[in-house]
Amino acid sequence: MRVLLIEDSARLRDLLCEAIRDEGWKIDAFGTAQEGRLALREGEYDLLLLDLGLPDEDGIDVLKSLRAAGMQTPVLLLTARGAIDERIVGLDAGADDYLAKPFHNGELVARIRAIMRRAPLTSMPVLEYAAIQFDVASRQVMCAGTEIALAPSEKGLLELLMRNGGKVVAKSRIEHTFSEFGAERSSNAVELAISRLRKKLEGHETYSSIETIRGVGYMMREVRD
Ligand code: CA
Repeated sequence: MRVLLIEDSARLRDLLCEAIRDEGWKIDAFGTAQEGRLALREGEYDLLLLDLGLPDEDGIDVLKSLRAAGMQTPVLLLTARGAIDERIVGLDAGADDYLAKPFHNGELVARIRAIMRRAPLTSMPVLEYAAIQFDVASRQVMCAGTEIALAPSEKGLLELLMRNGGKVVAKSRIEHTFSEFGAERSSNAVELAISRLRKKLEGHETYSSIETIRGVGYMMREVRD
């Protein structure tokens, strides 16, 4: 996931960048609306973290014009403490959520996760990993021109593992994703789903391997022999 931050406080920028990177997400940060707008034109982002009090332009105006231009990227506003009006105006202008300063990093990350659960990632409409293509919008999973038939909850698991290809995904996170599909939230249910997913993938020419990292979680790896 790629995040764009527009925030004029260098101190807050550094803190936010660190918190985002700790989650394994990528972030580009700028201190002015002008630089931020340029970055949005040139790159693809999954989330915009937007401060409302910017030196060169009002954050609300930035948001309004981006939405008017058709930008679909989710926006999380960083607002001043107690500025209720600002938040209402921000949400009306097309923000997905807001966070009042000062905030705890844990809350920031939780808000971002909540937004991303509601919004598809825009920077990668089709995920590709280990010879598997996952169309995020249509939920179709393909390998070598053939569809891999999976249940919705298995697709959810696969998407999470593919997005984190080569990295360990914590079991608790997998359980959470799994439960969003109405499935039972237990480690046993997840284990069963993972083994079903492995079997289904084995029937295709993928280069994927889902490894169990004992006591931690699972990791999808690309294996080419
Ligand atoms: Ca500011």
